[in-house]
Amino acid sequence: MNENQLSKRLERVGELIPSGSRLADIGSDHAYLPVALMLQGKIEFAVAGEVVKGPYDSAEKQVRKNGLSEKITVRLADGMEAVTAEDHITAVSICGMGGILIRDILEKGRVTEHLSGQEVLILQPNVGEPMLRSWLMTQSYTIIAEDILEENQKIYEIICAEKKASPANYTEEELTFGPLLLQKKGIVFTKKWQRELKQRRNVVEQLKKSKADQQQKIAALEQEIKKIEEVLKGEY
Ligand code: SAM
Repeated sequence: MNENQLSKRLERVGELIPSGSRLADIGSDHAYLPVALMLQGKIEFAVAGEVVKGPYDSAEKQVRKNGLSEKITVRLADGMEAVTAEDHITAVSICGMGGILIRDILEKGRVTEHLSGQEVLILQPNVGEPMLRSWLMTQSYTIIAEDILEENQKIYEIICAEKKASPANYTEEELTFGPLLLQKKGIVFTKKWQRELKQRRNVVEQLKKSKADQQQKIAALEQEIKKIEEVLKGEY
C-alpha cells in the first residue's frame, strides 16, 4: 500500500468520502488516505491527525514527498483536537481502530466541540461496530451508507453517518448487523456472520464442558446464535 495504491479497505473508505470535502483523517498513520484522495483531486483540503510521534512523522514525510504541504496539514494531537474551527472540516474519517476507540474519539470531540456535528462521518471500525452504531443513534446521526469487504482474510465494515432533521431509530438487529447491510446482505456479509455463528457455537460447546455454572453466558450466546441464524435464513 502507498499513496498511489491504497489497500482495498482504504479505497472503499475513499469512495464514501464526498467529492470536494475538507477532510479530517484522525489516526492517519502514513496519511495514505488524504494524500491519495488529494492526488485524485477528490478533496479540497485535509488535516491528518496523529497522536503518536512515529506515525505523525511518517504522515509529515508522506505529505511533503508528494508536495502537498499547502493542502494537507499534519498535526500531532489526540483525536479531534487535531481540528480547529478555521479548518472548516466537512468530513471526518476514522479508520483501522476498534469501534470503542472510534466512539470515544467522537464523544470527546463532541464534548470539546472539536466535532461540530455537521460533518459527514466515514468510520471503519475493526471490531465493535454495534457500540459505534449505538453511539451514532444516541447522537441523532443517521447511517447513510454502509459497506462490507474482505481483504487478506479479514472482513471490514464501513459506516457512513450524518445528522439529519429526523434521526433514525434503529432496532437491536440493525445496530448489530448494520441497518443498510441487513438490507443488502451479500457474500461477504454472509461469510462474516457464518464465521461469527461458528465462533459462538464453539464457545457454547466449551462452556458446556465447564464445571462452573455458565448457564447465563450460554443463554445469552444461544440468543445471539438464534438471531444470527434468523438473519442468515433471510428472516430479517
Ligand atoms: N487510519 C489508518 C488506516 O486505516 O490504515 C491507520 C490505522 S492505524 C491501525 C491506527 C492509528 O490511529 C495509529 O497510527 C494510532 O497511533 C492512531 N491513533 C490511535 N488513537 C488515536 C487518537 N486518539 N488520536 C489520533 N490518532 C490515534
